[in-house]
Amino acid sequence: MSFQQIRYQPEVVRFLQRGLQTKQIAHAYCFYGPADTGKRKVALELAKALNCERSRVDPCDQCPTCRQIQHGNHPDIVTLQPDGAFIKIDQVRALQERFQYSAAADVTRVVIMEQAEKMRVEAANSLLKFLEEPLSPMVAVLITEKVQAILPTIISRCQKIRFKEVSHKVRMEILEKEGMPDYLAIIFSQIHLDNINFLSYSLQELEDLCLRMMQWCKQILEDGSIALLTIQEDWFKQAINQELVPLILEILLLWLRELLHYQLTQQSTLFIKWFEECRDQASKWERKRLLRAIEIVLQVRGELSKFVQPQAVLERMVLEIQSHREVRGRRAKFTKIN
Ligand SMILES: [Zn+2]
Repeated sequence: MSFQQIRYQPEVVRFLQRGLQTKQIAHAYCFYGPADTGKRKVALELAKALNCERSRVDPCDQCPTCRQIQHGNHPDIVTLQPDGAFIKIDQVRALQERFQYSAAADVTRVVIMEQAEKMRVEAANSLLKFLEEPLSPMVAVLITEKVQAILPTIISRCQKIRFKEVSHKVRMEILEKEGMPDYLAIIFSQIHLDNINFLSYSLQELEDLCLRMMQWCKQILEDGSIALLTIQEDWFKQAINQELVPLILEILLLWLRELLHYQLTQQSTLFIKWFEECRDQASKWERKRLLRAIEIVLQVRGELSKFVQPQAVLERMVLEIQSHREVRGRRAKFTKIN
């Protein structure tokens, strides 16, 4: 990976390369914009460009320094992530301690701060002070999807760079380049969730999530009480991280739409690896109920916020989809008797 390969954010790359060429690099940048738009990747390329042994405009990707940065083991390039809910002052102190001596000549230290909106005030103040009096040249890159949530005192000292939304096709290419197989990339490139970076989960975790969701959907269709039990026992007691509930709903929605699409065209376009499962489930859903289920999931998705218990929301969703079936079931029975 070099700047040349980041084709999806041409303006950002041009802007940074101009800065590198003219040696006008800010002390702090704030890369902001939607998830999966390449912010972290560009930050790493910038770190490489500032330190590459061959080119200080477009990193070579081959020299030992570029490789160390790429693999996350360069001593002067540090990434901070929230420790729990926040980026805490202790993390900034640890950074200060790590950088308490000057770096080797010709090294520009880079601190990449992910989810920078989660920085607490005291951590932010400490970091800014540190940035203003560095022992060696240092650049901070704050990364965020919620730029409005970053403290004004911080944002005013950063050069803001906006990362634009990327099309599905390009998003898919990005995920594939990161090593996601096409059958997962085609699904996850459809999902836009601000606070979830798919690339932070292993491929196995993402595939498991799709499989669980398909299994769950089958349970909703066949036996609501088991679907409810899955929510209670399987998801909320152990396996599933609650932060993933919005993602589960997005996958469920895509799956239900895929079933509808299959009913209409006999083709599977997103869940290509699970074509047979799609065909099987599509044949079992009655069309009206499927449409109603999609409607219910859309409604529930809108209601899902931190003020509502996600477990209760999912349970109600299953019951609503179920009640639709029971009404139909009773009608069917009545017709048959007559
Ligand atoms: Zn290099």
